[in-house]
Amino acid sequence: MTAVSEIFGCNVFNETVMQTRLPKNIFKSLKKTMAEGTELEPEVAEVVASAMKDWAIEKGATHFTHWFQPMTGITAEKHDAFISPTADGKIIMEFSGKELIKGEPDASSFPSGGLRATFEARGYTTWDPTAYAFVKDGTLYIPTAFCSYSGEVLDKKTPLLRSMEAINVQAIRILSQLGKSVTRVTTTVGPEQEYFLVDKEMYKKRKDLILTGRTLFGAKPPKGQELEDHYFGNIRTRVSEYMKDLDEELWKLGILAKTKHNEVAPAQHELAPIFGTTNLATDHNQLTMELMKKVAERHGLVCLLHEKPFAGVNGSGKHNNWSISTNTGENLLEPGKSPRENTQFLLFLAAVIKAVDEYADLLRVAVASAGNDHRLGANEAPPAIVSMFLGDELTHILECIERGEIAEETAKCFMETGVTALPRFAKDTTDRNRTSPFAFTGNKFEFRMLGSAASIAGANIVLNTIVAEELEQFANRLEAVADIQAEVMEIIKETVKNHKRIIFNGNNYSEEWVKEATKRGLHNLKTTVEALPTFAYEKSINLFVKHGIFTKAEVESRCEIMLEGYSKTINIEALTMLDMVKREILPVVLSYSKEIFETLKVKQELGFNMSVEKEQAYATKLSNLTESLMSKIDELDKLVLETKNYSDVLDAAKFYREYIFEAMQTLRVVADELETMIPAEKWPFPTYVDLLFYV
Ligand code: ADP
Ligand code: MG
Repeated sequence: MTAVSEIFGCNVFNETVMQTRLPKNIFKSLKKTMAEGTELEPEVAEVVASAMKDWAIEKGATHFTHWFQPMTGITAEKHDAFISPTADGKIIMEFSGKELIKGEPDASSFPSGGLRATFEARGYTTWDPTAYAFVKDGTLYIPTAFCSYSGEVLDKKTPLLRSMEAINVQAIRILSQLGKSVTRVTTTVGPEQEYFLVDKEMYKKRKDLILTGRTLFGAKPPKGQELEDHYFGNIRTRVSEYMKDLDEELWKLGILAKTKHNEVAPAQHELAPIFGTTNLATDHNQLTMELMKKVAERHGLVCLLHEKPFAGVNGSGKHNNWSISTNTGENLLEPGKSPRENTQFLLFLAAVIKAVDEYADLLRVAVASAGNDHRLGANEAPPAIVSMFLGDELTHILECIERGEIAEETAKCFMETGVTALPRFAKDTTDRNRTSPFAFTGNKFEFRMLGSAASIAGANIVLNTIVAEELEQFANRLEAVADIQAEVMEIIKETVKNHKRIIFNGNNYSEEWVKEATKRGLHNLKTTVEALPTFAYEKSINLFVKHGIFTKAEVESRCEIMLEGYSKTINIEALTMLDMVKREILPVVLSYSKEIFETLKVKQELGFNMSVEKEQAYATKLSNLTESLMSKIDELDKLVLETKNYSDVLDAAKFYREYIFEAMQTLRVVADELETMIPAEKWPFPTYVDLLFYV
């Protein structure tokens, strides 16, 4: 086997490659662009393109693609060959600076919300030099941003880069007030990705998995996750072979795949990378999800990324570990060793506290999807109520500051103090709280509400922007006073006083918390449909416009796209359900019923004083359930037709949630009950036992 150090990044046009393949001045100017976001000269692009092409061809590439992240949440690519004809009927391999910098895919078939009506369909992709190009399956992939002809943003990368810029600007202002000279501040992310693996042959027999990514039917198996024997359990050979193969593919692309283990549900697993800058982490998470699926195929498996592939066992999420760091290598959410550093830490912490409290609804929107609705609040993932876990020690320190008792209190508790100073506190004392949606974990925050299938861009756009907003407010205050230290303490104090309602260190899964949260006035946006409209509230629009993340039209169109996406998802699920129940389940149920009725009839005709009581009860139950199933089918059919009456996207989404989704649930209950009565070999598709326990 080749050494990991040799495999790692071998298909990436990274700095080492750039350094050996680019003239010194070109490398320098490209690095400047990467580090500081400065514009790239066309001559530089020309040289970079040529070097990239030569390198890619050596790696077996024949094509290049502008790789982008439209609002579908997945990535898009269109491949062009490097070939260019010559006069003598042959070809040469060409790739110009222009082709590197700009592409022109047709934008009309990507979701654009209301933007499509007002603007031209033409779209542009522009190279993002802050992310590395790479070779995959014979193609050179160039990470790009995607916008419309008139400049409207049509992707998830552009706003993400903008939000990183916003927080950079504001954090530098703060740090400069604190006497630090820092030239760049970036947010960092490490997303932990959960997934399921099922056997490919079983998968192929389930239309619901193929079309919707989740099972729409399935009786509860005799065994679920109650023995807790899967979490961190021994990894089965087939799965372990898959994981090895996956790691290798990820390493080749420079993705720092680090941790792998079995998760709580049977057939569920997790992969966590080492964190990186948010931009790169987002690209890498998209690639990770894509490769998880591709590599599975090679092993006769299918990787399910849906948030809730199976009812009754845990679904899949994605923990978004997030922090802020400087170009000097300092993590701004790392509690410091000296009181001075702790003041800085607490100031940034205060910004996050205030941000999460004031914009909890936006964080909720950022994780909203039809799939994630099955998890949030279902005692397997955080509730739909956003709150923050800080741990007892940190909370105590903040409370002391609020009361103005810093010196005394901290002296009692922590031994080490100064007059206006703060004590040192160790990061490991922050306890784990697995139920919190937004937990401080020592030197970073872990945002745990994200669904497994979604791009992490949305959540990080919101996080970066809301924290940038608070940092801006703080910076304005600090720049206006002479006594910086006193003002910092005042800001922290005020923040604790006004925003402590968002801090909750208890059990987020409990009923009491739901009541308590209501008392505190926190949002409880239970479903996607309830959450999404808040994205286009005036307050949200003002925030995004102010920081240059989205225009008003872009916010509104995104809101529309998300609502439409929700309705479309439920619509596909309902149609798939109807198809399966009418053409697969019902015929089997009817033919089996015939057997039962015939058995009963034969027995009755024979006479002999034999009791037919049990058979009669059994036949009656079967008949009742069948009848019930048929009426549920009629109801769902009727409701699906009614959706045509809703032209407004919000009304439609509400109808899908309140009626279609509910009708699907009740239909499923009857079908699942029937599954428990029909002979195993007659049931038309693999059951939960087949899917969950045979890999
Ligand atoms: P745990 O969840 O058990 O605390 P780790 O400490 O390994 O596990 O962290 C989980 C994830 O958090 C990993 O992907 C890790 O790279 C990431 N992470 C660690 N430090 C940071 C940071 N400063 N910024 C962003 N992510 C981080
Ligand atoms: Mg975690």
